[in-house]
Amino acid sequence: MARYTESSCRLCRRETMKLYLKGDRCYSDKCAVERRNYPPGQHGQNRGKFSDYGLQLREKQKIKRMYGLVEKQFKAYFKEADRQKGVTGTNFLVLLERRLDNAVYRFGFANSRGQARQLVRHNHFLVNGRKVNIPSYLLRPGDKVAVVEGSRQIAGITDAMEAMPRRGLPAWLDMDKTKFEGTFRTLPTREEMNLPVQEQLVVEFYSK
Ligand code: SF4
Repeated sequence: MARYTESSCRLCRRETMKLYLKGDRCYSDKCAVERRNYPPGQHGQNRGKFSDYGLQLREKQKIKRMYGLVEKQFKAYFKEADRQKGVTGTNFLVLLERRLDNAVYRFGFANSRGQARQLVRHNHFLVNGRKVNIPSYLLRPGDKVAVVEGSRQIAGITDAMEAMPRRGLPAWLDMDKTKFEGTFRTLPTREEMNLPVQEQLVVEFYSK
């Protein structure tokens, strides 16, 4: 599968905001956005205002990068969201939040979505008691995600669980740390997702 392999911090700098792609480093003063909060490149500090199209494009790129997706996958979620009843932008964000790799990150089993994806691929998680190694697996309300018993001592997972309080558990999830198990309780509302994004601009971008 295609994936972005260049500097993650460059992506944050391009969007001039923290996308939290690197785990611990994102919370330290080594964060590139803290140090240089302007777009990368020779003309990074001299860029003018964005057109409407530019604003829509940047918002789309921001969300896509936040969830670590490539264009093809991202657009497929939009099409699915558009097909569903309700507000397309909210449907879209809910679909992204339902991904297994995202949930593993949200539960605090990983420090970044990238790390979560790798842990899922390496068979470290069960969904409702069965091994699932597909990062794009979509969770349903009531689904339980647990760390495989033999993987509970992996440093990446234990470190992430220790660092989890700084992020906090979202309202639509429950977590039982002693069992290494989280529950995707319900679909999140837009308010609960509390994401600093304007999904309506993405709807406008793809609706042209
Ligand atoms: Fe983004 Fe994290 Fe790099 Fe900061 S440290 S620029 S938040 S990836």
